This record gives sequence, structure tokens and C-alpha cells, in this order.
Amino acid sequence: MTVHRESPMDRPQDSSRLERRLERERRARLRAEAIAEQATRQALHDPLTGLADRTVFMDHLTVALAASEQHGRSLAVLLIDIDRFKLINDSLGRDAGDELLVAIARRLSRAARSVDTVSRLGGDEFAVLCLDVPDRPTAEEIVARFSAAVGETMRLGSTEVVPSASIGVVLASDLGTADAVLRDADAAMYEAKRHGKARFEVFNEAMRTEALERLETESDLRHALERGQFVPYYQPVVELDTHAVVGVEALARWRHPTRGLLAPREFIPICEETGLIVALGRFMLERACSEVERLGLRSRSDIPLKLWVNLSARQLAEPDLVATVAQALTAAGRGPSTICLEITESSLMSDFERSLANLESLAELNVGIGLDDFGQGYSSLSYLKQLPVDTLKIDRSFVSGVGSDRRDTAMVAAIVGLARALGLTTVAEGVETPRQRDELRRLGCDLAQGFLFAPPLPAEAVEELLERGLPAPPLTSAQAARAR
Ligand code: C2E
Ligand code: MG
Ligand code: MG
Repeated sequence: MTVHRESPMDRPQDSSRLERRLERERRARLRAEAIAEQATRQALHDPLTGLADRTVFMDHLTVALAASEQHGRSLAVLLIDIDRFKLINDSLGRDAGDELLVAIARRLSRAARSVDTVSRLGGDEFAVLCLDVPDRPTAEEIVARFSAAVGETMRLGSTEVVPSASIGVVLASDLGTADAVLRDADAAMYEAKRHGKARFEVFNEAMRTEALERLETESDLRHALERGQFVPYYQPVVELDTHAVVGVEALARWRHPTRGLLAPREFIPICEETGLIVALGRFMLERACSEVERLGLRSRSDIPLKLWVNLSARQLAEPDLVATVAQALTAAGRGPSTICLEITESSLMSDFERSLANLESLAELNVGIGLDDFGQGYSSLSYLKQLPVDTLKIDRSFVSGVGSDRRDTAMVAAIVGLARALGLTTVAEGVETPRQRDELRRLGCDLAQGFLFAPPLPAEAVEELLERGLPAPPLTSAQAARAR
């Protein structure tokens, strides 16, 4: 073993060198630690909002679940999804979208208590882990606080927006794994969206079953089109004055191999979410045009039946919509004026500019455009002013009370009057009783469809109905007087 002895001569110089070296090393170590800490923080925090990311959230949730199991401490998980975020991103740009997310993050952090973990899971989805939530009323108070924070008006550039969120809540006592909790929160959030957004739903078991069914439906749907399981049904549209069938509305049905014939509400929303609606919409258009033509369906005076087809939001904003419609008509050998495409206020919301451009091109081709469920939304009148519409379909919610409810009757009268003044055709939807029919006729509504005349039917059944014809309407009092 060698021991190096320092000579008394060089000691002061050596010791200061050593100190300097130690200091350098200490600084280097601190720097390395700071870099490592920053890297960890960056890796575990969402870079845009600075909130905890999914990994941190799941870690906290796992720890909290273990604690809740051991000590019986209750907790709640909130899954918060910003409503119509895509609309903001698409219409105001990504920077505005980012600005909104940062603002929401700040608001959620402000509304949280010190024991809560607020995180951004990705996209426009945030999650909050709330500890010590003893019961549902407390959870509801917490949710109300977060909703209010999200919903404060804000400015994005020159646009004022009022954000809202759909919130899925899981209240915990016997919770299972962090993954299972988040999945349940997701199912509850989906319910909140489905019930009209800007609201919350607390998870229950039925939602889990529904979520499973939805998953199954989604995977079945992917094959349904190629397996030929979709069929158009056709609901006759009749002239109120004569009961002549002048057209049909094509309505999609799914012949499910085990669940039987399914109505659109069972699959259209999922098709819209997954984008399958574009392919389904194209199929409906092509099949309905060719089928109505193949059967040679004609109305009373040998005029081809008018065909009404529903368009979805996604279809309406598709760049090749006009070409698709033109092709379907050419392939079936039908003229453009024999078809009327139905749009709704909500289908216009996703990309108004592109939808408007498509509608204008279609109108130039002489294809009819109808406003479906008219009166149900908020801006029906402003759309009526801007769009090249030729038909108004009066929403069933007004038709149901016509002739019995004073307000419904007044609304329908006003809509018919407005349509007349603008030279548009009116169609009443969902006519179920002779009383509704008589009143609609008295008010001057042109056409109607509803179970009173015929439900949606397979093509062959429509053919039979056309041969048979519908019984004529009763004479109006004026007609009866004239006949006497
Ligand atoms: P919609 O276009 O407003 O269609 C009218 C709905 O009212 C149809 O429901 C029809 O069966 C129903 N209906 C007709 N008469 C009566 C009646 O007298 N009383 C009542 N209570 N209901 C009546 P359906 O077939 O379930 O379709 C629901 C919705 O699904 C349609 O509403 C439409 O928005 C959508 N849809 C259907 N087929 C398609 C499609 O091919 N593409 C798209 N994008 N949407 C479709
Ligand atoms: Mg319709
Ligand atoms: Mg409708």
C-alpha cells in the first residue's frame, strides 16, 4: 500500500485545486440532476398544458385505489371531454384549439382541491382524481364546480366561445383496477354525450353492458356493408289533397344476423363516429336510386316517384359528394330533379363552408334539397335564408300536436305560410291520426308521411301499395258543400 504524503510546501496550492475540482464536480452533478429531473417532468407532464399526463394519472389512481381498499377511503374519477372541440379546431384553427386546451387546463386546476390530481389524457380529454369523496351529493358538488369553471365565456382571437364539457363520473368503493375505472368513466362520459352534451352522468352497471354492446355493434358494422346486410326501406310520401303517393323516403335498415332488423338509432350514431357513414350513405344513395328505377315505381300520373335520401354531416362535407350523387343518378338512369337530399341543422354544423359549397353545386345540377326536422334546431331560419333549399320537412314534434295543441297548430301554420311565401314545398313528418292530417290539409301543407298512410316498407311492398293505392281523403267541407 502506498501512501502519498503531501509536502508542507505544496499543500495550500493543492488544497485550493482540490476544492475547485470538488466544486466543479458538485456543479456538474447538480446540473445532471436538474436535467434528469426536467426530463422526467417533461416525460410525465403534458407539454402543452403542463398537467400530469396519462402515466402519472394512472399511477396516482392505482395508489389511491389501493389506499381506498385498505382504509376504506372513498374517491371519485371524473373524465371530462370538451364538447365540439373539433368544431373549434376546424373553424378557428389549431392554435385556437391549443389555446382553449391550455385555458381549460388552468380552469380545471383552479377548481381542483389540493388533494386532487388533474391530468390531460390526450386530445380534448381530461381526467380528475378526487380523493375523499364520501357520497354522491359531494361528487355532484365537485362536478358542478368543474363544469362551471369550464363553462366560463372566453375569447379565442375575435371569437367569443362558451366551452362546455361532457363528464363521466365513477364513484368508488369497490373499484377494481385503474384501467377498469377509466373504462367505466368513459362509458359514463359517452352517456353524457349521448344525452345531449354539457352534462354529467354517474356510472352504473347498465352502462357497462351498453358499452360492450356498442363495441360488438361496431365490429359487426365493419362487415355489414360488405356482407350486404344493409337494406333501404321506403316510406311513402303522399299528397295531402289526393292521397296519391308522389315519392318515398329511403331509410336505412340493418338486417343483423342475430339481432334481427335494426332501426337507424341502433347503428347510425356509431357509423357517424367511426366514419362508416360515408360508405353507408353512398350505398343508400346508389341502391335507392337503382331499386326505385328498376321497379319502375311511378306515381299516379306516370311521373317517376320522387326519392328522398338522408345525408349525414360527414357526407355533406365530403369533397366528392357531388360526383357521388351524379354517378348514382347516371347509373340508375334518373334525372337530377327526381331526387331530394335531406339535410338537418346538425349535419350542417361540422363544416358549414364546405357543406354550403356542395349544396350549391347540387342545386345547380337541379338536385332537390330538403331541410329535415325543420323547426327543431336553433337556427332553422338563418339556414333557410342561406341555403338553396326547396323542401321543408316539418318536424314530428310540431305535427304531433297539430289540430289539438294551439301552439303546435300555430307553429305549423307559420311554417307553411313561410314556405309558401318562399315558394317551397312542405312535407309533414310523422302523421299518425286523421285529425292531424285534416288539420295539416286545412293549413295548406302540401305533402305528408307517417304511419297513418304507411310505415317504411321494403321496395316490393311499396310496389304493391302503389298498385293498390291509398283510400282517398274525406271531402273537405268546401268540397262537400260543392257536391251538394
Ligand atoms: P328522419 O329522416 O327524420 O326519418 C323519419 C323517421 O320517422 C323515420 O325513422 C321513420 O320511420 C319515422 N316515422 C315515420 N313516420 C312516423 C310516424 O308516423 N310516427 C313516428 N313516431 N315515427 C315515424 P327511422 O327510420 O328510425 O330513421 C330515423 C332517422 O335516422 C331518420 O330520421 C334519419 O335522420 C336517420 N336515417 C335513416 N336512414 C338514414 C340514412 O340512410 N342516412 C342517414 N344519414 N341517416 C339516416
Ligand atoms: Mg329524413
Ligand atoms: Mg325527419
